[in-house]
Amino acid sequence: MDRHVPRRDAKYFQSSIAMQRLPDQAQIVVIGGGIAGCSTAYHLAKFGAKDVLLLERYKLTSGTTFHAAGLVGQLRASANITRLLKQSVELYRTLEAETGQATGWKMNGGLRLACNTARMTEIRRQATTARSFGLDMHLLTPSEALKLWPLMDASDLVGAAFLPTDGQANPSDITLSLAKGARQNGVRILEDTKVTGLVLSQGRASGVTTDQGTIRCETIVICAGQWSKEIGRQAGLLIPLQSVEHQYLISEPCGAPRNLPTLRDPDRLIYYKEEVGGLVMGGYEPDPIAWALDGIPEGFHFTLLDSRLDHFEQIMQQALMRTPVLATTGVKMLVNGPESFTPDGNFILGETPEAKAIFVACGFNAFGIASGGGAGWALAQWILEGEPPMDLWPVDIRRFAPSVHGDEIWVRERTLEAYGKHYTIAWPHEEFTSARPLKTSPLYATLKAKGAVFGSKLGWERPNWFAPNGVAPHDIYGFGRQNWFAAVGEEHRAARERVALFDQSSFAKFELRGPGAEAALDWICAGDLVRPPGTVTYTQMLNSRGGIECDLTVSRFASDLFFIITGTGFRTHDLAWIRRNLVGAEQVELTDVTERFGCLSLMGPRSRDVLAGATNQDVSNASFPFASCRELVVAGVKLRALRITYVGELGFELYVPSAEIEGVYAALMQAGAAQGIVNAGYRSIESLRLEKAYRAWGADISADTTPYEAGLAFAVRRHFSRPFIGRDALAAQRASSLKRRLAIFTVADPEVVLLGRETILRNGISVGWLSSGGYGYTVGSNIGLGYVRNDAGVSDDYLRAGEYQIEVARTQVPAKLHMKPLYDPQGKRPKL
Ligand SMILES: Cc1cc2nc3c(=O)[nH]c(=O)nc-3n(C[C@H](O)[C@H](O)[C@H](O)COP(=O)(O)OP(=O)(O)OC[C@H]3O[C@@H](n4cnc5c(N)ncnc54)[C@H](O)[C@@H]3O)c2cc1C
Repeated sequence: MDRHVPRRDAKYFQSSIAMQRLPDQAQIVVIGGGIAGCSTAYHLAKFGAKDVLLLERYKLTSGTTFHAAGLVGQLRASANITRLLKQSVELYRTLEAETGQATGWKMNGGLRLACNTARMTEIRRQATTARSFGLDMHLLTPSEALKLWPLMDASDLVGAAFLPTDGQANPSDITLSLAKGARQNGVRILEDTKVTGLVLSQGRASGVTTDQGTIRCETIVICAGQWSKEIGRQAGLLIPLQSVEHQYLISEPCGAPRNLPTLRDPDRLIYYKEEVGGLVMGGYEPDPIAWALDGIPEGFHFTLLDSRLDHFEQIMQQALMRTPVLATTGVKMLVNGPESFTPDGNFILGETPEAKAIFVACGFNAFGIASGGGAGWALAQWILEGEPPMDLWPVDIRRFAPSVHGDEIWVRERTLEAYGKHYTIAWPHEEFTSARPLKTSPLYATLKAKGAVFGSKLGWERPNWFAPNGVAPHDIYGFGRQNWFAAVGEEHRAARERVALFDQSSFAKFELRGPGAEAALDWICAGDLVRPPGTVTYTQMLNSRGGIECDLTVSRFASDLFFIITGTGFRTHDLAWIRRNLVGAEQVELTDVTERFGCLSLMGPRSRDVLAGATNQDVSNASFPFASCRELVVAGVKLRALRITYVGELGFELYVPSAEIEGVYAALMQAGAAQGIVNAGYRSIESLRLEKAYRAWGADISADTTPYEAGLAFAVRRHFSRPFIGRDALAAQRASSLKRRLAIFTVADPEVVLLGRETILRNGISVGWLSSGGYGYTVGSNIGLGYVRNDAGVSDDYLRAGEYQIEVARTQVPAKLHMKPLYDPQGKRPKL
C-alpha cells in the first residue's frame, strides 16, 4: 500500500497560489513543479523569457523531489555533465541569498571510500578525471579519511578521495527557493492544474490541455519526473523511463557533526549524509525492485511506498559494519520512494526528435537534486537559443531509438541492471549483460560460432573481438590489459598486413532522394557535396557555432540519390538533425534504411584481391578509386560498395540487402582464404583508427568542437561562396587563432593503460584531457587523442614547444606529442 506523508504538507501548501485563473495562452509551458521544472522555469526567466507558465498537477515538490535524500555530488564521466553539476553547486551556493528562501545548502565536501585495490585504482582514475574537468579531488589515506568522518569504522579501508566542493541540500527547500526566484522574475506558477494532453500542430507544440481548460503555447517543457513517460506516450513521444523503488533510513541523533561530509562507500553499496545530528543512509541494492508496472496510481503525490525492511536488510548489514553507531541508534524513518531511472543511468534532456518545440528534462536516476540546477540552466538556453549551450550528448534524448527503447520490457531489464551497477566498479570496456540479444545481424549465429564476443550498442549485438581456440569467449575485466588484448592484436595485424572482415551491419543508414537532395545537403553539410554521382564524401554537419553535430559519409549513387552512413549510436540524433534542417527544402525525401542493408567492411592491403575474387566486375584502382561508390554484384547479390576506410588501409564497405548478407559473407571468406582473411571486431577497429587519428564523434569531436579545432579542415569545402550551416562561425574562426586543437600523444610505458579523460600536462600545467585512449599494435605504443587548450592560441609552434606528460590514475608519465597520424600505410614509421 502507498503512504501519504502529511507531516510535510503544511509547509508546502504555503507555496500554493490558490485560485489563480487559468490563462488561455503562454509562450512557454513547463509541466511539473519538482526541482527540474522549477529550475527550468527559473532559468528561462533569468535568460529573459517573458511569458513562462509552470503547471503543477498538485503542489510544488509533491512528486519525487520531496523525498530525496539531498546529496549533491558533481563528478561524472563526461566533462560537460560534470560542468552542469558544478553549475548546480554554483547556483545553490547563492540561491538563498538571492531569493530569501532557505535551501539547506551545505558545502561539506564529499568523501568516497575504497576497500580494495581495484576500487582504489578506480578512485585514482576518478581523481585524475576530476583534475581534467577542473575539480579538486584529493586522495586520502585511511586515517585522513577517518579524521574527516569519525563515525566510521575505517579498518578495511585502502584509501579514499575527498571532493571539497560537493555538498548537500534540502531538496524541497531548494526547489521552493527556485520557484520563488522564478516568480520574482515573472514566471506564473499554477498548482492543482494537471496537464491532460499535449496539443501538436504540424509536428510542433501548439498547446496543452489541462483539467481546467486548454492553453495555447509555442513551447512545451516536460519536467514531470516519472510521469513524463506517459505524458510523452500519449503524444507519440518516446521517453524511456522505469520507476524503481529506492530506500534510505533517517536515524535519530547519533553525534554526527553538522559539518560531516557526504560519504559514498561504493564497495558496500551505501551512501550517507548528516541530518540534525543523525545520519541519512541509503544504498543501491543489486536486485532493485521496479515499480508501477501498470502505470502510476492516481493521486500519488506527497506519497511514499511501504518500506521494505527485508529488502533493505542487505544494505543495513553493510552500513552496520561501516557505522557501528547505527546498531545503538534509533531509526526515525525508513523512506521508500520511487524514482525514475533510465537504461544507461543518465538523465534525459533536450528537444524530442518526434516533435518540434517540445523539450524534456526528466529521468534523473537519483541524482536529480545534484543535476537540477545545471540541467535547468542548460535546458533554458537550449529552448531559447534553439541549440544547447554545449555538447550534451550523454544526456541527449536523441540517444534513444524507438526500435530499442520503445520496448518497455527491454527498458525495464536494462534499467534495473544499470541501477544495480550504480556503485559497482565501472570497468574499462564493460558491457551491459541484460536484455540481450535484441537486434542482431543475420550473421550473428555464424560469427558467434567463430568465437565472436559481442558488445551491445543501441540494442545491436556487435562483435567486439573473436576468441581464438583455447581462449574463453567472454571479457574478463580489470584495469590492466584485459584478456582480449592479444587476440585483438592479431585482428589488428591481419587488417594491416593482409585482410580482415568486419560485420558493421548496425551502422545507421539513410537515403535522401529527390531533385532537391543536392541543394539540401549543400546547406546542411560543411563538406562539398556538389559532386558527380559515384563519389563518396566524408563530411561534418555543423551547428551555428561551427560545432560538429554529425560526422558521416555521404555517397552519391545517382543525381537524386544520396546514401548517408553514420555510427550505430547516432541514428536518432543524426536523422533528427538532418530532418529538422530539411525544413524548407523542396522535393526531398529522407528515409531510414538501417534495417534494409547489412554492412561488411573488407579492410586491408589484400582487400581488393579478395573482392576481385568474389565479383566479375573490375575493382581495380582505376575503375574503383578511393572515395568512390558504385553498385557491384558479389555472389549474385547486387550491393552498394564504397571505397572508404576507417582503419587506414585499402578497404571497401559493402552494403548488402540484409536478407542476402550470408551468401556475400561466405563468398568473401572463401575468396579471402588464400589471402589470410580473418574475422575482426570493433576493438581492433578502435586500435586501427587511433593509429590513423581518425576522429570518433562523441569522444574526439562533438557539438562543441569545430572541424578546424579537430584537425578536419580537409573535410570542409574550400570556398564559402554558397551558404551552409555554421559557415559564419567557421569563417570567423579561420580569421583568428585557435584556442584549442586536437593533438596526438603516445605514452611508451607498456604498463600504462590509456582509456580517455587522462589529464594532458604541458610544461607541468594542465591544458586538457584525452578524448580517446587506447593501444596501437602496429606502432607498439599507447595512443591518446586530446585537445590542448590555450586562450592565447594553439599554434604549431606552441604545440611543438611544449614538454608533455599525461596524468594517469594520479601518476604523471612522459608523453610525446605528434603533429601527424602515427601510421602511414606507405610504410613511413614515426619515431616514438
Ligand atoms: C529515495 C530517494 C532518494 C534520493 N536521493 C537523492 C539525492 O540524495 N541526491 C539527488 O541528487 N537526488 C536524489 N534523488 C533523486 C531526486 O529526488 C529526483 O531525481 C528529483 O527529485 C527529480 O525531480 P523532477 O523534478 O524530475 O521530478 P519530480 O520531483 O517528480 O517532479 C515532477 C512533478 O511533475 C508533476 N506532474 C506530473 N504529471 C503532471 C501533469 N500531468 N501535470 C502537471 N504536473 C505534473 C508531479 O506532480 C511532480 O511534482 C532521490 C530519489 C529518491 C526516490
